[in-house]
Amino acid sequence: MPVATLAADQSVCAPLPVLGRDVRVPLVTGGEVTYAALDYAASAPALQRVWDDVAAYAPYYGSVHRGAGYLSQLSTDLFENSRAAVAGFLGCREGDQVVFTRSTTDSLNLLASVLPVGCRVFVFETEHHAALLPWGRASDAEVTCLDAPRTPAQAVETLERALADRDPYGPALVVVTGASNVTGELWPVRELAAAAHAHGARIVLDAAQLAPHHPVDIAELDVDWVAFSGHKLYAPFGSGVLAGRADWLRDAEPYLAGGGASRSVARRADGGVDVQWHESAARHEAGSPNVIGVYAIASACKALGEAGFDRLVERERQLVEQVRTGLAAVPGVRVLSLFGDDAPRVGVLSFVVDGWNSSHFAAALSAEYGIGVRDGLFCAHPLVRTLLGGEDGTEPGACGAPDEGATLNAIRVSFGAGTPDEHVERFVRAVGELVRNGARWLYRTEGGRCVPDTSA
Ligand code: PLP
Repeated sequence: MPVATLAADQSVCAPLPVLGRDVRVPLVTGGEVTYAALDYAASAPALQRVWDDVAAYAPYYGSVHRGAGYLSQLSTDLFENSRAAVAGFLGCREGDQVVFTRSTTDSLNLLASVLPVGCRVFVFETEHHAALLPWGRASDAEVTCLDAPRTPAQAVETLERALADRDPYGPALVVVTGASNVTGELWPVRELAAAAHAHGARIVLDAAQLAPHHPVDIAELDVDWVAFSGHKLYAPFGSGVLAGRADWLRDAEPYLAGGGASRSVARRADGGVDVQWHESAARHEAGSPNVIGVYAIASACKALGEAGFDRLVERERQLVEQVRTGLAAVPGVRVLSLFGDDAPRVGVLSFVVDGWNSSHFAAALSAEYGIGVRDGLFCAHPLVRTLLGGEDGTEPGACGAPDEGATLNAIRVSFGAGTPDEHVERFVRAVGELVRNGARWLYRTEGGRCVPDTSA
């Protein structure tokens, strides 16, 4: 369906209002345009609704769980009601805990810190570093890094094989992403969860890229934990979430020791200190909590629910198709994919362009078209290297044509609930023009980035 007709389609909703939608940026070639934020996968703009909710609450801001005053009580209620709203958004089960963290990275590091003794961890090499790296730091965890699968079914087979080889009685954790931050492709989460559970393992879902685009129902997917970040869910105020089974969280030492996590502290006669830790989510939330960030996440959860996920998903599917078809029509553009061109994906696509350094291409999209994308390896080095088929090539940040060998980095375009049709149309047109006509400006490498050369 042409993008122009999307707004008339009742099965899709109009873009949700976001902050920054009217920001104008200068073009190196002269004049200015409205900024096209097409880097949602890194950080999405705040929903206007989230901003309004936060602004309305700000005058009432007060300490949480530690004040007798009216505003402290109000803030504590807001904080705990936000926890309940997030639990509802994720479809949490009876007994699940919602722990507020700083981000997905923080959530997964928290989970790594509570692994039971002797836990085996199974993680695909395709994961974002936030999901790939924390487990090796858990003192006695044994980490198995699984090969990149080339189909969803192969992902399940690979996991089944790896799990079959382990001691079935020891604790084990499988780590999987819901949607890749590189290809946007959806992973077979339900099937992987079934495989994990059939072998007595637990599973954590990295929903950093899934939750902003798709409903995530923890009970329906039958995953044990879900992690996501507020700043990718249109709530950029420094909070994240780890939600799921209470037992591992409750049985472990607190992630941070301090006030808020402790129920009672007493000095012993021998000079030591006795502590009783909370058994609730507060156990892992020591210190004064980020009530604004938490409230912002709850507000975003409500806004997405009210907009209707079905309509958001359908609109995004059509935008993805638009980008995919547009890029397929440009010679020399290769969209990166693990599971094949037709695999379902969220609004995240990475690609390379023959004869171009990706940094150069991204710099030209920004300077000449006012389009913000990302170039690089997207904190998923093993996956991007696999997709690019090699380790040799031009360094990220370089300008000009690539050196001999494969390009080392890629370009990523990503969008979501706030993206107007025009941004996607401008992006597809810009890619075509750059490939056909070349850049209109000269660029040079400065501080590891390709930037317009304004010295001439
Ligand atoms: N997981 C995935 C799939 C991501 O895309 C990201 C961030 O890009 C993360 C985890 C880490 O998120 P954060 O930087 O918010 O901790």
